[in-house]
Amino acid sequence: MPKSKKELDLIPKSKSRFLRVKCLNCGNQQIIFGCSATDVECLVCGKILLQSTGGKARILTKILEVLS
Ligand SMILES: [Zn+2]
Repeated sequence: MPKSKKELDLIPKSKSRFLRVKCLNCGNQQIIFGCSATDVECLVCGKILLQSTGGKARILTKILEVLS
């Protein structure tokens, strides 16, 4: 059922998916898990890209792509 799959892809359930993000500080791109239970830092400069706030993850940088 390609139609329904495409519709699913268009709905960004970002909290349960992998995200390709770009660090606003240094421009590094990396893949992070959207519902990580711990803070995720940029591998290059150490800036926090995703902040875990007790169950809900908050994205603190630019999301380039949501990966299914
Ligand atoms: Zn960085």
